[in-house]
Amino acid sequence: MRYDDSPPPPESASSISPDRRWFMRRSALTIAAASLVPAALAAWVLTQALTGSGHDRPPPPAAAPLPASHATGLDGKPNTAAGATPTAAGRSGTASSAQPPAGSPPAGRTVVVDPGHNTGNFDHTAEIDREVDIGTNRKECDTTGTTTNSGYMEADFTMDVSRRLRTLLEAKGLKVVFTHETDRAWGPCIDERARIGNEAKADAVVSVHADGVSEGNRGYHVILPAEVKGGKADTAKIVEPSRRLGERIASNFARTTGSSPANYLGGGTGLVIRDDLGGLNLSTRPKVFIECGNMRDSKDAAQLTNPQWRQKAAQGIADGIVGFLGG
Ligand code: ZN
Repeated sequence: MRYDDSPPPPESASSISPDRRWFMRRSALTIAAASLVPAALAAWVLTQALTGSGHDRPPPPAAAPLPASHATGLDGKPNTAAGATPTAAGRSGTASSAQPPAGSPPAGRTVVVDPGHNTGNFDHTAEIDREVDIGTNRKECDTTGTTTNSGYMEADFTMDVSRRLRTLLEAKGLKVVFTHETDRAWGPCIDERARIGNEAKADAVVSVHADGVSEGNRGYHVILPAEVKGGKADTAKIVEPSRRLGERIASNFARTTGSSPANYLGGGTGLVIRDDLGGLNLSTRPKVFIECGNMRDSKDAAQLTNPQWRQKAAQGIADGIVGFLGG
């Protein structure tokens, strides 16, 4: 089940509010989901049995009239085939087991910050639905992202946290590059987001997101790149440093926000490995995604919509990056 397969609303996109569009799209998806319940149920049960995972997965078709909105996903449609293998990343212990990094002081080094999605994506569904090459596969250019039940957009959240993060990192003497800010009406596509980090020769890249799964699913998780090889994707050299980066960010995020690791995936570690995200597969630099919380859970949403909490979130991510870089 793919969120972006929903037919566009009949009204002109520019004539209605983002919130209204959101609910229209969700309704369309609900109808589509209902029509596909039998087949999707079988696929979903199989996927859940294999992966036990969250973010980008298709929703439980029978039990979720409001599908996992982030449906949507980080960077494209859910991959329900065997290739989608979100995995608990607990092999070397929990996030708090991050090893002290060996490296030069962070000042002068480059961090690329990738604010997930773009508020304009809702008005440019044709453009963001266009598939791009992620090396191992083809996926949609970008997705709309999710919202809270009251309509606060993930793309607004990610930009706000990213700006707070930039201020904190620059105060440490780091050079910060954004993948986008106010410069474009939609996107960038996931392949371009990766390319910006690569071309900046970033010492660390973090993609900021919030999840969109059902009420009761709470907490943060950091997504680490799996080792993949195919086309332009080859993550062999970034798997290990990305893990160290992710562990640093996860443990610091937990400390500054008081949040717990996600209770719906990752086996309680707050770490998940994914092989289906173009933004990770195409990266040649150490890179992780962070899902700061679940926008569709009322308790998490109360935090995500709170500016003081977002400052704590940015602080935790910044401390993790600086720690990774040896500061
Ligand atoms: Zn997202």
